[in-house]
Amino acid sequence: MDKPISGMMIYYYIVCKRKLWYFYNQIQMESDDENIKIGKVLDENTYEREEKHINIDNVINIDYIKDKGILHEVKKSRKIEEAGIIQIKYYLYYLKHKGVENIKGKVDYPLLKQCINIELTEEDEKCIEAILIDLKKIVGRKLPPMLEKKGFCKKCAYFELCYI
Ligand code: SF4
Repeated sequence: MDKPISGMMIYYYIVCKRKLWYFYNQIQMESDDENIKIGKVLDENTYEREEKHINIDNVINIDYIKDKGILHEVKKSRKIEEAGIIQIKYYLYYLKHKGVENIKGKVDYPLLKQCINIELTEEDEKCIEAILIDLKKIVGRKLPPMLEKKGFCKKCAYFELCYI
């Protein structure tokens, strides 16, 4: 049976389709990468007063909800900004299809003291539907997509797997 498509998978679809394939197919790599440590510290110390990590159907994992109807996704930097934006649009899309409407999103960059407001448009919905079709094709293949070198590969948990 197909696994549900999580927000993280949508994020990886944008970041690296090979990483998406590994993640979907449960190939995990431990990493003591500094970026992961920063992410954990951020997670533990940011927005302490909000309710955090709201999991819905194991599909979406909202970092926190503040104010009525605003979902927040926390990111460390704006380097892969597009991926964070699509991820939260997917949350809005998924919830809309469960009958939850009139909600918005925000991507927060606490280290930069910045945020981006997100709303779901009809065009976004079409884009997400196209992503879902393509994503399912990719993760269903027997082998991962070919390696495409990226500037952030060295910081990726799968670096050793890709570059041995
Ligand atoms: S090391 Fe690079 S190519 Fe390999 S999964 Fe990570 S980001 Fe993708």
